[in-house]
Amino acid sequence: MNSNETTLKQTENMHRIFNIQREAQIKDPYPSLALRIDRIDRMIDMIVRNEASIIDAVMADFESRSPFTTRFTDIVPTLDNLKYVRKNLKKWMKPEKRNSKFPLGLIGAKSKVEHVPIGVVGNISPWNFPIALALSPIGEIFGAGNRCLLKPSELSQHSSDVMAEMIGASFDESELAVILGGPELSAEFSKLKFNHILFTGSTSVARLVAQAAAPNLIPLTLELGGKNPVIISETADLKLAAEKLIWSKTVNGGQICLSPDTVYIPEKSVEGFVTACKDSLKKLHPNVKQDPEYTHAISQRHADRINDIATDAKEKGARVIPLSDEVGEGRKILPSLILNPGPECRVTQEETFGPLLTVVSYSQLQNVVNEINEKPKPLGLYYFGKNQEEIDKLTYETSSGGMVVNDLFAHSNQEDLPFGGVGDSGMGSYHGYDGFKNFSHAKAFYTQSNLDPFKMLRPPYSIKVMDSFKKQVKR
Ligand code: NAD
Repeated sequence: MNSNETTLKQTENMHRIFNIQREAQIKDPYPSLALRIDRIDRMIDMIVRNEASIIDAVMADFESRSPFTTRFTDIVPTLDNLKYVRKNLKKWMKPEKRNSKFPLGLIGAKSKVEHVPIGVVGNISPWNFPIALALSPIGEIFGAGNRCLLKPSELSQHSSDVMAEMIGASFDESELAVILGGPELSAEFSKLKFNHILFTGSTSVARLVAQAAAPNLIPLTLELGGKNPVIISETADLKLAAEKLIWSKTVNGGQICLSPDTVYIPEKSVEGFVTACKDSLKKLHPNVKQDPEYTHAISQRHADRINDIATDAKEKGARVIPLSDEVGEGRKILPSLILNPGPECRVTQEETFGPLLTVVSYSQLQNVVNEINEKPKPLGLYYFGKNQEEIDKLTYETSSGGMVVNDLFAHSNQEDLPFGGVGDSGMGSYHGYDGFKNFSHAKAFYTQSNLDPFKMLRPPYSIKVMDSFKKQVKR
C-alpha cells in the first residue's frame, strides 16, 4: 500500500469510529457516575499494567529517556490526575444551586446549573510528554461524561503505538479510540464535527486547527507554548534559583512547554549567576555526557534546530556559554546560557524547546514588564525573590497563563488549579474541577413558580405595568 492509500484507509477508519462515538453519545447522553468512574478505573489499571511497555516505548522515541523521567513526568502525574477526578467526581456532578431574582425565589422559583456532557471530544496531543499530555486530560473528558478520539503525535510513534494497543484492549471504540497518522491525517481529524477539540501543541499548528474547526463553530481548548520569562530579583537566593533553573532546563532535555526561556537578572548578578549555573549542572549531572538520566532531543532534526539557534546567536554577537566542559553529540544537547542576544537573533524570536537559556540583564523592573508586555503572552511567568511589591507588579501588570514564585512548573502539579494559556499561549484551561467544567456544558436550568408571576407581562399590557417599566429606567 502506498502512503496515499494508507492515509485514505486511516481517514475512512477515523470517520467510522467518529460516527460510532456520535451514535453512542446520542444513545447514552448522560453516563452515570458509576460508568464514568469505571472508565477512569480502566484507564488507571491500563497504565499500571502497561508501565514497562510505556517506559520502553518512550525510551525508543527519545533514544535516551530514563525510566525515572518517564515515571516522574508522564506516568505518575497522569495517575495522580485520574485519581483526583475519581475522588471528586461525585461532588462535581452535583447541580450548582444559584439565586433566583427577587422576589421569584420567595414564591417558589428555582435556579441551578447542570453540568452536562458536551459529547465527542477530539484530543490532539504532542510528543514531548507523549503519555501524560494524551491521557491525563481524558480523566476530565470522561469525568464530564464524554467520549474521546485521541490523535497522538507521529513524532513519538512508539508511544502512540503503545497507547493505540493498550486503549484498544481496555476500551470499546465507542468510548475511547486512538487515531494514528501524520499532519495530513491530523488536518482531516480537526475538520470532524466534534463537540469540542483539545489541542496541545505549537501556536502555528493551533492556527490551522482553529481554521479547520471554524466552519463547524467547534469550541477549542488550545494548550500552546511560547517563551516563558523568569525574573530574578535582587532579593533572590541566586544559588537556589540557578539550581532550579538548570534542573528545569535539563529535565526532558528542556523540551517542556513551561520551560523557562528568558531570565531577567539584575546587571550586577550576571557573573554570579553564570557561575551558579555551571556549579548546578555539575551537581545535578556530574558526568552529563554519560548520564542516562539526561534526555535526548526527540529527533536529529530537532537537535539540529537547537544547535542552529545557538550558532545563530553566536554569529550575531551574543555571548554563548556552555555550562559543561564536555561537548554534546547527536541528539544529546548539553545546556548553554546565551547572554543578552539581540532582537535579530532566532533565540530571541523562537520558542527554544531545548536546553538553551537566554539571560538578559536589567536595571529597572518596569523595563522588564514593558518588554514582557510587548511580546506574545507566555504560558508561565516565574519570579525568584521575596519583594512583595515586585510580585504584585508582575501579577497585576503582566499577563501569562500561570505564575509561580520561587519555583518552576509547580502550578501545573496542583490539580486544584486551572492549567492553561492566554493569548498566543492558548485558550481555555483544564486539570481538576476546571477541566471538568471545561469539558462540560454548563446548562442554565430554571423552574418557574407555580404562581405564574409574569401573567401581567402578557398582552394586553395594563397602564400600571407600562408605568412600572418606565419607572425602572433609572440609575
Ligand atoms: P505540533 O503543533 O507540531 O504538533 C502537535 C500535534 O498536532 C501532533 O499530534 C501533530 O500530529 C498534530 N498536527 C500536525 N499538523 C496538524 C494539522 N495541520 N492539523 C491538526 N493537527 C496537526 O507540536 P509538537 O511539536 O508536537 O509539540 C511542541 C509544541 O507543543 C511546543 O510549542 C510546546 O510548547 C507545545 N506544548 C504545549 C503544552 C501545553 O500544555 N501548553 C504541552 C506540551 C507542548
